[in-house]
Amino acid sequence: MQLSKFPRVSLAHLPTPLEHMPRLSEHLGGPDIFVKRDDCTGLATGGNKTRKLEYSMGEAVEQGADTIITVGAIQSNHVRQTAAAACKLGMACEVLLEHRIGQPSETYTTSGNVFLDRIFGANLREYPGGSDFDVAMADVAEEVRTSGGTPYIIPGGASNTVGALGYVGCGIEMLEQFSEQNLQIDHLVTATGSAGTHAGLAVGLRGSGSDLPILGIGVNAPQDVQEERVYKLSVETADLVGSPGCVARDDIFADCNYIGSGYGEPTDSMNEAVLMLARFEGLLFDPVYSGKALAGMIDHVRQGRFTKGQNIVFLHTGGSAGLFAYADTLTL
Ligand SMILES: *Cc1c(COP(=O)(O)O)cnc(C)c1O
Repeated sequence: MQLSKFPRVSLAHLPTPLEHMPRLSEHLGGPDIFVKRDDCTGLATGGNKTRKLEYSMGEAVEQGADTIITVGAIQSNHVRQTAAAACKLGMACEVLLEHRIGQPSETYTTSGNVFLDRIFGANLREYPGGSDFDVAMADVAEEVRTSGGTPYIIPGGASNTVGALGYVGCGIEMLEQFSEQNLQIDHLVTATGSAGTHAGLAVGLRGSGSDLPILGIGVNAPQDVQEERVYKLSVETADLVGSPGCVARDDIFADCNYIGSGYGEPTDSMNEAVLMLARFEGLLFDPVYSGKALAGMIDHVRQGRFTKGQNIVFLHTGGSAGLFAYADTLTL
């Protein structure tokens, strides 16, 4: 695999730490659980989009863009990191925000990530849930061109092949850390949403000859849809990095039983997981992605699917800025 041939800008603090969580592991009484701290990527409170944006923004710079266009939910972590990256590179940022929550509170629509987007000076436009964002972003790009600018469109979550390169890199980085720390890891667990993280990891690991199983915990789509989305993007990403065919269909597994009533809607198990990690490990997770993924991992331990003697890595994809938007909703 050749990552070095792709244009890239430096945005993230890498490598991110890989840490043991002794108190959580003891509390749950199952495997030893480690956390890969991609909440510490550094840009604007960090998170997984920063690794992807190193490649997306690298391509934008190479193409001479001066305006970034992207899309996300009102409390999108991707939008917040993109808005910050645009500032760092001296570009404008046009953001299409989608209403995806049933009855958003005032706090949800003004605090957390959206508050930070405004600090970064992004131009925010709001759209109803289910809008056609390919069309809407093309319209905004046309507007930018008409006023003399050069737009570059980053899809939701930066989950195309270019963005997924960031997680190919993360997969390789983790294999190096496992070897440096002399760790035999049995399972990797990650939240899986727009699929770039999960797909990139699959390519990074399989393309390096590792057969470490990856458990994706879904946050929006049903299992078949999510797995197909991840698989398709893995195949395309594997082609791009010159390792065609390295990911098989049955390498991709998503457990989508922890979504509750929908994307971004709180669940009791997410609430429990967020408090557990805060109170046992001093770590902050988010209500939309990493909190639900943790709830899934905790349930797998309780169900005996991960057992004593095993070593599990949970990829912390960040998102704690979103907690503030849920201040009225979480039960403390
Ligand atoms: C975007 C996001 C994810 C999901 O990553 P995808 O690449 O979209 O699947 C997980 N956790 C957090 C905190 C995120 O912001």
